[in-house]
Amino acid sequence: MDRAILIDFSYIIASALFIFGIKRLSSVRTARGGNGLAALAMLIAIVATLFEKEIVDFRLIALGLVIGSLIGAAASHWVKMTAMPQMVALFNGFGGLASALVACSEYLRTGGTGVFDLTTICLGTFVGALTFTGSVMAYGKLEGIVEQQPVTYFLQKTLNLIIFIGIVVLIFWTVNDPKNLLPYWIMFAAASLLGVLLVLPIGGADMPVVISLLNSYSGIAASMTGFVLMNKVLIVAGALVGATGIILTEIMCRAMNRSLANVAFGTFGKIETGPAQKGGQDYAGVKSCSAEEAAMILEVAQKVVIVPGYGLAVARAQHAIHDLSNLLESRGVEVTYGIHPVAGRMPGHMNVLLAEANVPYDRLKEMDEINPEFDQTDVVLIVGANDVTNPVARSQPGSPIYGMPILDVDKAKSVIVIKRSLSPGFAGIKNPLFENEKTVMFFEDARKGIESITKELKNL
Ligand code: NDP
Repeated sequence: MDRAILIDFSYIIASALFIFGIKRLSSVRTARGGNGLAALAMLIAIVATLFEKEIVDFRLIALGLVIGSLIGAAASHWVKMTAMPQMVALFNGFGGLASALVACSEYLRTGGTGVFDLTTICLGTFVGALTFTGSVMAYGKLEGIVEQQPVTYFLQKTLNLIIFIGIVVLIFWTVNDPKNLLPYWIMFAAASLLGVLLVLPIGGADMPVVISLLNSYSGIAASMTGFVLMNKVLIVAGALVGATGIILTEIMCRAMNRSLANVAFGTFGKIETGPAQKGGQDYAGVKSCSAEEAAMILEVAQKVVIVPGYGLAVARAQHAIHDLSNLLESRGVEVTYGIHPVAGRMPGHMNVLLAEANVPYDRLKEMDEINPEFDQTDVVLIVGANDVTNPVARSQPGSPIYGMPILDVDKAKSVIVIKRSLSPGFAGIKNPLFENEKTVMFFEDARKGIESITKELKNL
């Protein structure tokens, strides 16, 4: 068979596998297999691309492969699980940069071969550069290198709009006068600046949504680059990332009660630091308990809901909590897990951890499914969760999390919270649940705390 046909055929297979892989990612049960399918698709796409006639020097490719693999292996070893959002932000950013650089080098190599080619080169550069600098800003905010509070100034949105209009004009200019490189370089710089300016007014609390939006942009940039190179699999894979990224952004917006327009253009996620908002200092009537007391409360329960949060990930307590739930079930207690869509620090964080500990999938209940069950629940055991249970999201307009749907744990008969102190969570605010008369706090590291409750329960 002709080589070009074989390559095209491989691209179609890879594209189909990507789609089936993504489909399988939509359920926890099939997600692992879906990931495998998508990885196989990527392998097919890479191997087929290596047979493209334009590839002239395999040594450079091998060098890139070795350097990239070394950086990837080192990152997987050194980067902590808790720093995953920053890592994902950087990945998105590098995807955007790669697209922008490929588009740029095609422009410098060919000078643009027509209106369509020049337009896709410019759009690939624009979206890629914006994604790169926006992602680096998001990384900086999450890592605490850049100011986490929203940075706002006079006529901020107007300035962004002016830059955007300027970029559109520069793209028209480049397309109409391709020999003149100046408008292209100014457009590249303006797009990079716009990436920074768009993320600047967004506060730390809303970074997850921004990262997911940037993920989508990196897909759009890759798709544009696919058009520049006329590489079909890159067009399809980029479009898939773009579309799935937008869907994920929409799901996260709903989980945090934001609108997509707000994320793209608004100023939000401000973390209030007035005295009434600070966590830790101003609690009254908080009750604490020991492992033995927590075990006694659990012993008499019929129905227990476990609510995991970021602290479960920090303490790596997923195996310990599974052991405890097995013990409770062996004593006839009904145990389920209430999973909030933004618990932890990345989408699906809790699902991944609990799957790693082999917690059966049918025990995990999404927020909408578990919320109506809390008023028939005897004990809610909160493990390192905070913001996703904070009732001010329902009652306090002006709070940074106001309007975010939460797990209605305060409707249960009693609540045990395992965390190390009264420190606030990601949003940096006080959680009145801790002073609720139904709540007892067990101040301990999540893993140690659960292990000691399990031990006490066995002794009872
Ligand atoms: P939070 O960040 O609200 O709270 C986590 C709590 O865990 C802290 O209050 C901390 O208290 C406790 N903790 C930390 N380490 C331990 C430990 N070793 N043992 C026990 N407890 C510990 O987490 P939630 O999961 O409730 O909420 C997630 C937050 O993160 C939301 O605000 C969400 O918007 C945001 N976010 C979500 C992302 C996502 O995609 N899921 C991405 C980025 C942010 P203490 O120090 O007292 O122990």
